[in-house]
Amino acid sequence: MDFSTYVRDVEDFPEKGIVFKDITPLLMNASALEAAADALFRLVKDQAIDKVVGVDSRGFIFAPMLANKLGAGFVPVRKVGKLPHKTVSESYDLEYGTDTLEIHIDAIKNGEKVLVHDDVLATGGTAQAVCKLVKQLGGEIVQCNFLIHLGFLEGAAKLKDYPVAALLKY
Ligand code: 5GP
Repeated sequence: MDFSTYVRDVEDFPEKGIVFKDITPLLMNASALEAAADALFRLVKDQAIDKVVGVDSRGFIFAPMLANKLGAGFVPVRKVGKLPHKTVSESYDLEYGTDTLEIHIDAIKNGEKVLVHDDVLATGGTAQAVCKLVKQLGGEIVQCNFLIHLGFLEGAAKLKDYPVAALLKY
């Protein structure tokens, strides 16, 4: 299946000059949704995974589906202040200012094998912060996988220590 036909370019979102990749057309099509979940699973299926870490908020769509297919648990990484239990946190730079992500302190056990998933890899700051959270808890990152990799933004350079895979690369 050509997943690119289900991704819509939205100009000037969330701000002027940005062309946003909107994945909602893919999500609302039953066969594209199923095929995308299967294809993401095939990117990693031969490897043992204990936890799939999904990133707030669009990473929460496919990460639990992947966890289910892999026989793994699902772990949310959330924006600061959203998780109820004790957390560890990582801050990262945005174009203007910084942002902070958190994970529950007991979400990953030392040595567990982890798949990191988000919908889009852009500049890589988000995924890099997520990987640092996983490492803080002693997790071993097996792969970072994405629906979409915006290659021209060079985000994979921030993830050079880990295998990076995606269904679509621009
Ligand atoms: P990065 O930190 O790599 O620059 O940005 C990645 C994060 O921003 C991801 O969590 C992703 O959901 C969001 N993001 C950035 N650009 C886009 C885009 O064009 N489309 C979508 N759907 N998400 C984006």
